[in-house]
Amino acid sequence: MTRIFSGIKPTGHLTLGNYLGAVRQWVETDQHRADALFSVVDLHALTVDHDPARVRRLSRQAATLLLAAGLDPALCTLFVQSHVDEHTRLSYLLECTASDGEMRRMIQYKEKSAREKAAGGSVRLSLLTYPVLMAADILAYGADEVPVGDDQAQHVELTRDLAVRFNQRYGQTFTVPRAVLPQVAARVMDLQDPTSKMGKSHAETSGIVYLLDEPDVVRRKVMRAVTDSGSEVVYDREAKPGVTNLLELLAACTDKDPGELAAGYTSYGALKKDTADAVVELLRPLRERHAELCADPAYVDGVLREGARRARELARPTVDAAYRAIGLLPAG
Ligand code: ATP
Ligand code: MG
Repeated sequence: MTRIFSGIKPTGHLTLGNYLGAVRQWVETDQHRADALFSVVDLHALTVDHDPARVRRLSRQAATLLLAAGLDPALCTLFVQSHVDEHTRLSYLLECTASDGEMRRMIQYKEKSAREKAAGGSVRLSLLTYPVLMAADILAYGADEVPVGDDQAQHVELTRDLAVRFNQRYGQTFTVPRAVLPQVAARVMDLQDPTSKMGKSHAETSGIVYLLDEPDVVRRKVMRAVTDSGSEVVYDREAKPGVTNLLELLAACTDKDPGELAAGYTSYGALKKDTADAVVELLRPLRERHAELCADPAYVDGVLREGARRARELARPTVDAAYRAIGLLPAG
């Protein structure tokens, strides 16, 4: 059976980008067709300036939201990364497989390190090695597929390189995974800056739709979205990034084709209104279910406990095999 792994970082409140780019595939298809593991990858949230209490709170919130979005513990495994030691155990071996230059070429490292420096902070070493830990997250489970948004494609490519290199040097140990991107909305853009992706850790929040935003807040953010010069509604990412982002959102919410949708609009206002309504409707059931689950934290704890137990059981043999293959003496 196909094995799937994917994760989400508790670096901020989950966004519409996270949902359309990743979580929706997990819920609607992945958990039904494969042995799927999904993780709140909390160790990754420590790679940038963080507040301990906030990370803890956001980890619980992310797990609760994933369940609210429809992940079903009877169908998939949901767990918190730091509850399973195998990730960090394997990460070190992969650090010994990766090169410094490879890490520095990662676009996300360049962007996030620049952001940290601009904010007057220093760049944590873990931000540089982050893609190696992510590779460990994936390879520990022998995942075949990694459903992610477009921004993570480069990291999955690196994971493939590391798996192939390790296998060539030390013998067949890891499955070589591949990224699976959604057809539409693989890169949801910020509503205030449609040339940069919507990201949950961004400081400027007016262009970000959070999954738990109240309906009137969602409406306001979409209605105030930056659009492009001219007034024609055309699906063209280069010439009309703002309008194209709205068309992609509407298409993703209504299961339609963004190019075909464009033909039905003669003004930006009508497109914004329909998009706002569609996003509000998409998020409504999720918000309601989230409120119910918040009233039952013991249920969420139980799911995470059982998820970590199963994840440990699956990862252990692969990581042990990697320790042997790379030349470490087994404990007697
Ligand atoms: P951060 O700003 O901390 O990096 P993020 O919003 O990018 O947060 P991640 O935890 O890095 O979220 O990514 C979780 C998943 O959501 C990944 O599969 C990623 O590709 C996807 N994703 C994130 N942002 C978007 C987006 N704007 N559009 C589509 N998919 C996205
Ligand atoms: Mg990200």
